[in-house]
Amino acid sequence: MPCGAKAVLIVTKSVQGTTTNVAQRRAELVCDAPVGHTGAHTDSRQSESWDAEAGKVATVLRHEDP
Ligand SMILES: [Zn+2]
Repeated sequence: MPCGAKAVLIVTKSVQGTTTNVAQRRAELVCDAPVGHTGAHTDSRQSESWDAEAGKVATVLRHEDP
């Protein structure tokens, strides 16, 4: 049974010629490690891991350069 902890992934991209970062897309992360696992939550499909307090939804930022 997977852990199932959730987080929101926000992918940002810089706007060319500026220092501004814009949110490009959002995705939901779901931890697929076994329930009761130790360490960070992991979503292997999105290749992301995150720490979160129990019962809270974390926000994970990923920056991608164009
Ligand atoms: Zn987890």
